[in-house]
Amino acid sequence: MAVAVNSQLNPLENAERQFEEAATRLKLDAGVRDMLKKPRRATIQWLPVMMDDGAIRMFEGFRVQHNIARGPAKGGIRFHPDVSLEEVSALASWMTWKCAVADIPFGGGKGGIKVDPRALSKAELERLTRRYAADLSDLFGPESDVPAPDVNTGEREMAWIADTYSMHERRTELGVVTGKPIEVGGSQGRREATGRGVMICVEQMCKYLKMPLQGARVAVQGFGNVGGVSADLLARECGAKVVAASDVTGAIVNDAGLDVPALIKYSSENRRGVAGFPGARPLPGSIIEVDCDILVPAALENQITSDNAGRVRARIVAEGANGPTTPDADKILEDKGVHVIPDILCNSGGVTVSYFEWVQNRMGFYWPESEVNSRLREKMVKAFGDVITMKERTDAASPGAKVSLRIAGYMVAIQRVLRVHELRGMYA
Ligand code: NAD
Repeated sequence: MAVAVNSQLNPLENAERQFEEAATRLKLDAGVRDMLKKPRRATIQWLPVMMDDGAIRMFEGFRVQHNIARGPAKGGIRFHPDVSLEEVSALASWMTWKCAVADIPFGGGKGGIKVDPRALSKAELERLTRRYAADLSDLFGPESDVPAPDVNTGEREMAWIADTYSMHERRTELGVVTGKPIEVGGSQGRREATGRGVMICVEQMCKYLKMPLQGARVAVQGFGNVGGVSADLLARECGAKVVAASDVTGAIVNDAGLDVPALIKYSSENRRGVAGFPGARPLPGSIIEVDCDILVPAALENQITSDNAGRVRARIVAEGANGPTTPDADKILEDKGVHVIPDILCNSGGVTVSYFEWVQNRMGFYWPESEVNSRLREKMVKAFGDVITMKERTDAASPGAKVSLRIAGYMVAIQRVLRVHELRGMYA
């Protein structure tokens, strides 16, 4: 396993630190902690792929199932050059806690391939995706492990995975993967679900803080699925003003508010990105430090660290991405009075509608978007309330040592997972 140079930036260590803090609050003994911390299964695949020029190239793939006590492993597949077993393991554990906070009947899983998808042709990418899916076809399945999109994967890749798995099974089995195109058994509202969940969490947080959301200034880091939809819905449905956005191509700002639909159109044309958008100017500094009320990190891990947390100006940080804030940065933000809506709550809208998609595939009956969205809202509001209740109860019991919403979220999740382990008993 590769060791990250700066341990603050090692996502697995960060996930374990967060878990340990909650486990200590819950007074879990060492054996139970270990059981809940270790992944159930972790696999590495070396995938040979025929490139367009006839050469064979090997790619490294991973799949980790963290905890499967509450149901099948659930979690996305990431295509990125920095994917590692450690990163995938951290992301898989966050999925366990996220599914438990959202109270959906899944465990945690995650997968990834170490690849820069921009450097591959569409045909090469399809062969790689299918090889990965074929290689994992004995792990994947609607009852065992259900992948979904993550960074650099989307509906197209999910359709390829559903097709590959179905060919191996000799029947169409759409419930093996979620985040599919509507025509291939996808759910209405899935594409927007993570961003919609972010919006609902921000709404709930503003209500809790008695802070107006109408006119609030929003900055969004990462303008892909999660960032783009969060920005669009916060502007369109809540009247917030999106003043800054960034992606791999750069960062832009417009104090009067960006035209979000125009930016989505501009950035997605030929995957051009946000840089050069005519309705804005380039942002001179880092988007994390931009003057705003609500910051939505929606790119990758480790974006808010002890190096820049002190310069965060937002009042609310809504974690669209997984693991964007390191534990050291968390403490700094807490001391500054910044309210962090933790990833395991804030971006759980995606997996919640993935659950709805899986349910619809198994029933063979499909809901209209309005039904998906209202069920999502119900789940998100309940999850937000559960985490707030846990925080308030814990703080009341130990006023000198208050917990963050992140640790409260972990506490809710750990209790739910542990309860299932207790009821199922130990098979050994
Ligand atoms: P995506 O590939 O659609 O978008 C990622 C965006 O981040 C792109 O715009 C990319 O240019 C940008 N980006 C990458 N590195 C950056 C950097 N250093 N600075 C600024 N921007 C950068 O991916 P996505 O599905 O939107 O996922 C984003 C995050 O949300 C990830 O952490 C993912 O795990 C998490 N997430 C996604 C979902 C989902 O349903 N897609 C659900 C829950 C959580």
